[in-house]
Amino acid sequence: MGKKILVLEDESNIRSFIVINLKRAGYETIEAGTGQEALDQIKHNPDIDVALLDVMLPDTDGFEVCRVIRAGNKRIGIIMLTARTQEMDKVTGLMTGADDYVTKPFSPAELTARIDALCRRTTGEPVMNTDEIASPPFVLNTANRTLEKNGQRVKLTQVEYAIVKIFMENAGKALPREAILEAVWGKDYVGEVKIVDVNIRRLRIKIEDDPTNPTYINTVWGYGYKWGA
Ligand code: CA
Repeated sequence: MGKKILVLEDESNIRSFIVINLKRAGYETIEAGTGQEALDQIKHNPDIDVALLDVMLPDTDGFEVCRVIRAGNKRIGIIMLTARTQEMDKVTGLMTGADDYVTKPFSPAELTARIDALCRRTTGEPVMNTDEIASPPFVLNTANRTLEKNGQRVKLTQVEYAIVKIFMENAGKALPREAILEAVWGKDYVGEVKIVDVNIRRLRIKIEDDPTNPTYINTVWGYGYKWGA
């Protein structure tokens, strides 16, 4: 069964190009030319696996569409299609909940590689063990893929969950950013390692007592990150 991909792009020639290539790669596609159309399609097709969202749109911007989709769906994979001139920092700053971004112009191979990596992640590994990993005040439940802090559920995207899991499995150990990238995004990931920092910044806002002075996810300068002291 092909994965279902939403393609939000207002320029019809670019949209057709993406759709043709995704179909060729075995994906099922749903098209939208405006932000509103995209939101309507998401509502009518709750089984969409990945949404590709162009940033520059006639009725709104892709970040806003991303924010609305993410508010109602933690499971869906979201990839932003950004122009070279749009800084990823803008995405970071907006904290809209995207999992990845692809800079235009991109090759069909690059795009499908990124979608595949995201699908592998959002589908998740088989849920066999019911273990909980505890790292006070956190408890990670690997059966439900949920995180609690002081008994309160912290809502995470699948990517954020995967990052917390690798941290908690390696508590106290400094992890290179590249190792986090490979563990979470897979060996074949062709994007930039910066996506790790983007997600960590968002995670800190969700789990740290004071995100500007993190104590759970610590930065190891010039290397990566470490869970705990
Ligand atoms: Ca556009």
